[in-house]
Amino acid sequence: MSASYIDLPSGGSPIAFSFAEACKSLETENDAVRRRGSRRGLWMAVAVYVAFAVPDQLLIPDVAPVTIAARFVVATLALFMFELLLLAKAKTIWLDVTCAAALVVGYVGWLCPAIATRDTAAMSYYMIFGAIFMMGANLFFSFRFLLSVITSGLVLCAFFVTIEAFFPSSPAYKLAFGLFYVSCFTFTSFVNWRLTIERRSVLLNAAEARHQHWEASERGKSLLELSHTDYLTGIGNRRALDRRLDECWLAWKNDHRNFSVFLIDVDFFKRFNDRYGHQEGDRCLTVIAKALKAVVEPSGGMIGRYGGEEFIVVIPVESQRMALSLAERIRTEVEFLAIGHDERPDDRAIVSVSVGVAFTREPAGEKVERIVREADLALYNAKASGRNCIRCFDPLLPRPDDNAGKLVPLLAAAIDRNLVSLVYQPIFDVHGKARAVEALMRLRLPNGTAVSPKVFIPVAEQTGAILELGRWAIETACRDILMTDRMATVSVNVSPIQLRSPGLAASVAEILRECGVSGSRLALEVTEGLDMDMRSEVFKCIADLRNLGVEIWLDDFGSGFAGLSWLRAIDFNTVKVDRTFLHDCSNPRGLMMLQDMISLIRNRGNTILVEGVETAAQLSLLRELQIDRVQGYHLGMPVSAELLQAA
Ligand code: C2E
Ligand code: MG
Ligand code: MG
Repeated sequence: MSASYIDLPSGGSPIAFSFAEACKSLETENDAVRRRGSRRGLWMAVAVYVAFAVPDQLLIPDVAPVTIAARFVVATLALFMFELLLLAKAKTIWLDVTCAAALVVGYVGWLCPAIATRDTAAMSYYMIFGAIFMMGANLFFSFRFLLSVITSGLVLCAFFVTIEAFFPSSPAYKLAFGLFYVSCFTFTSFVNWRLTIERRSVLLNAAEARHQHWEASERGKSLLELSHTDYLTGIGNRRALDRRLDECWLAWKNDHRNFSVFLIDVDFFKRFNDRYGHQEGDRCLTVIAKALKAVVEPSGGMIGRYGGEEFIVVIPVESQRMALSLAERIRTEVEFLAIGHDERPDDRAIVSVSVGVAFTREPAGEKVERIVREADLALYNAKASGRNCIRCFDPLLPRPDDNAGKLVPLLAAAIDRNLVSLVYQPIFDVHGKARAVEALMRLRLPNGTAVSPKVFIPVAEQTGAILELGRWAIETACRDILMTDRMATVSVNVSPIQLRSPGLAASVAEILRECGVSGSRLALEVTEGLDMDMRSEVFKCIADLRNLGVEIWLDDFGSGFAGLSWLRAIDFNTVKVDRTFLHDCSNPRGLMMLQDMISLIRNRGNTILVEGVETAAQLSLLRELQIDRVQGYHLGMPVSAELLQAA
């Protein structure tokens, strides 16, 4: 209900209260009208009263100087008093009393000197005008009923006292004029009474109408509020946020006031719902919404639910740096809530959020939707980077493949439905002896079509399915290759997302223990090509894996932008040079590049592996360069574990 109900007088119902309020406000408005009316009325009445100096002069000339003087004195006093009270902002009732007194005094003030006239015949007719004072009290001014009756009653009394005691008059005159005065008093009082009732009912009707109008507008307001509120969390809904977005967009286009949009997604929320039930899921969203609101609103932002487990924030900020620091506060705030989630595939065990941030950037473009789309792309990248992180939109970042959507449900059930498998590609030393195999994942659609890892691995990374697929790959490779002693070493590719999830080292330890094989026979290939920031948790994970004896190889060296930083930060057992460097060796510049790279790695003391050997010429070149390990189609195709021995 509206705030006006807060100050309800005790015992009053909300409706009665606001109806009384409506009456009061109408009375206040009426009061102002009445004050203006009384003033106008008094000035008019005084003008007529003074103008009657002329009939005084004609009918009772002997006393006319006195009656005229009396008229002027009463008129001046009445106006003076009235204007003074008006200036002093006196209550309306005092203005009315002044007018009423002016009527009575005006009548008596004229009557007293007039009855002393010698021209009693003229005076006896002239006295009929006393009735006008009664009419004035009852009909001309709009006094309260009681005040009108008292005023006209006093005029009536003054008349009777005069004809009874001071003015010589016959019984017939007394009867006729007395009856006339009484009838006049009765009729005007009656009409006044009817008018008072009428006025009251008009006021009540107007108050009722005003009250109904107020109720309707209150209802309208709450409906409007409801239509902009998310039914579950109580924060704004999409419609409210769209409106705010439009406002910020216009402020940016017209006044260059920057703003930022965050899209916030609750990580692995579907699993949360499946594990704890929808009621708990709703509660989780409500708690998160409340926490986010507490962060965003004090900074002038607005938060809304964008649908499902996704929230949106629209916030005016001056710089991208400020936007990012606020987004980071949002992320940590949710972590701080520590809502348990033991169904996460990454062993984090609490609910977290991924945040995509977009900041206004030139050119403005025509549509506000662009900034939301950019926040969405940033969110996509945050998810692809292992979740529980923030990412800012960058036009250079990878964009989601629209066809990838079809793979999402397949990847979630790929292991159960036997859609994934591993093939193994041998790795040789330059003398042609097989030293290891690399496990490569394969995915087949239910209709048998093969999907390239370059397509499905990024999707699995984005949806988080990579965590289960990656664990499955390590376990399967250990069983296929190490338990059966098909090869001394197996290398398995791991995604940066696996490295960031705290459970990787523990699950590798468990696999090694279950398979009963030594950690030194397993190598994990870490690619430098992907966006992989050097978080301390990654280093910790690598250190834990090292403690298990597991080898860490750097894959696709030279293909990304952070290879050298990685090389400096981590002591890799083997560095795999990206195949493009070998393929570029057909020209002297390419050859020099490969040679430089090799000496760089050699100087650091890492084992060198060159991948992508497709021809005998390439192999002999690598022999010349005394490369430690080689891999490629020319030496061995990726094959299933069963075919490996025969190959
Ligand atoms: P990668 O780890 O660099 O794997 C080597 C890729 O090069 C494989 O492609 C392999 O079939 C291909 N290859 C091998 N020899 C030659 C050659 O002589 N010439 C050419 N042109 N290509 C050769 P594939 O199997 O399509 O895998 C592509 C990428 O997908 C892998 O690159 C790796 O980054 C990723 N991937 C594959 N399996 C897994 C996995 O189990 N987990 C993760 N996280 N990533 C995987
Ligand atoms: Mg690899
Ligand atoms: Mg590679």
